[in-house]
Amino acid sequence: MSNPRIGFVSLGCPKALVDSERIISRLRAEGYDIAQSYAGADAVVVNTCGFLDSARDESLDAIGEAITENGKVIVTGCLGVDEGVIREAHPKVLAVTGPGRFEEVMTAVHAAVPPAPDPFVDLIPPQGIKLTPRHYAYLKISEGCNHRCSFCIIPRLRGNLVSRPAGEVLREAEQLVAAGVKELLVISQDTSAYGVDLRYASSQWRGAEVPARMTELCQALTSLGVWVRLHYVYPYPHVAELIPLMAEGRLLPYMDIPFQHAAPRILKAMKRPAREAETLQQIAAWRSVVPELTLRSTFIVGFPGETEAEFQQLLDWLDEAQLDRVGCFRYEAVTTAAANELPDAVPEAVKDERWHRLMAHQQAISSKRMATRIGSTQPVIIDTVDANGAVGRSRGDAPEIDGQVLFAERGTLSPGDIVTARVLAADEYDLHAEVVT
Ligand code: SF4
Repeated sequence: MSNPRIGFVSLGCPKALVDSERIISRLRAEGYDIAQSYAGADAVVVNTCGFLDSARDESLDAIGEAITENGKVIVTGCLGVDEGVIREAHPKVLAVTGPGRFEEVMTAVHAAVPPAPDPFVDLIPPQGIKLTPRHYAYLKISEGCNHRCSFCIIPRLRGNLVSRPAGEVLREAEQLVAAGVKELLVISQDTSAYGVDLRYASSQWRGAEVPARMTELCQALTSLGVWVRLHYVYPYPHVAELIPLMAEGRLLPYMDIPFQHAAPRILKAMKRPAREAETLQQIAAWRSVVPELTLRSTFIVGFPGETEAEFQQLLDWLDEAQLDRVGCFRYEAVTTAAANELPDAVPEAVKDERWHRLMAHQQAISSKRMATRIGSTQPVIIDTVDANGAVGRSRGDAPEIDGQVLFAERGTLSPGDIVTARVLAADEYDLHAEVVT
C-alpha cells in the first residue's frame, strides 16, 4: 500500500519557509509523502502570509486554487489568525491554524488523511527536510516580537518574542552543517532582541553553557566553520559587539537592518527608535573596522503625514549612510495596523512618485559602491551551474534578495563550492567575475 500524500503550498517570507520545512519534516517522519501536484495529493496544506493586504489576497487565492484543484485543504501560517476571513472566503477549508502551530496542523492532517499503519519513520534525515537548496539554510532563532511598530501587525499575528534556547538553535545548526549546509541565514522578527524573553538564560552545547544572547550565539555559530549571515537586525547599540567577529572573518560582513525611515518625527510615529544621527555615527564606526561591510535595509515611503521635507530628509540620510542594498515599500494600510488611525494619509500618486525617486536615488549610490569592488578578489559561494556558466553570491549578497556574481564559464564548479573570484565588472546589482582558485 502506498503512503498517503500531502500537497504543500508555502507562501510568504523566509520565516514562513522555515515553518513549512518543519511541518514537512514532521509529515515525512510520520510516513506521509509530499505530493508534487494537487491531483496526486490526498490533502493540501497551505502555509499563508498575512502581513500586507496584497499578501493576504495572494494567500486567499492560493487557498481557493487548492480547494478547486484538490478539495481537502488545511490552512496554517500568519493569515490563520484571521480564521473568520478565511472561512468567509472559503467555507470548505477543513481546518485553520495560526503560525508556528505545528501540532494543530498535524492533528488536522491526521483527521483528513490518517497516516499509513506502518510508516517508514526511519527515512527522515535527522536534519529535517529543507525547501531551500542544500548548501544554504535558514535558521530561525525566535518567533514573535516585543516591538509595536505602528505599521506592523506581526506582534498581533505571532505574539511577543519567544526565543529558542541557544543549545537548541546550535544543535539544529550543527545538524544542518553535517548535512552539507555551507551558509546559515539567521532569521527572526528581531534578531538583536534574541534571548530577552529568556533573560539570556544559558543552555548546554558541546559541554559548555551558552547564554541566549545574540553576541554569544553568533560566537558559537561561527565556530561551525560555515558562512553565517544575519537578517532582521534591529538597530540597537549592542549590535556593535558583532563587528569584531566580522573583522576577524568569522561572521559574514553583512547586516540586514530595516531602518524604515530617517526623519525623526516619522520614526516616532512609526514607534521606531529615532536615533538617525547616532545611527550614521554607528555605521561610520562599523565601517572603520570592517570596510567591506555590506549594509542592506528597507524603507517605507508615504507613511501617514510624511511631508516632502521629511522625505527629502530620508534621501539626504541615504546620501550620508551610503547603504549598499536598499528595498523600499510604499506604505500600505494593513488592516488593523495602528498607523491607519494616523491623520494625513499620503495620496497613492505621491507614494508612487516618492518610491521611484528613492529607488533612483539609491541606485546611483549602490552603483558607485558596487563599482568600488571591480578588481577586488573575494570569496563567492556557488548557487547554480549550467551550460551558460555559474551563478554565485559574494559575502555581501543574501540569497533571493540581493545581487549575484555571474561567471561566464562553469569550469569544474558545483553548487555549494566556495571559490575565490576576481571581480571584472559590476552593475547596480550584480558582479561579473572569474574564478581565481
Ligand atoms: S520590529 Fe519588525 S516585526 Fe517587530 S513590530 Fe517592528 S516591524 Fe513588526
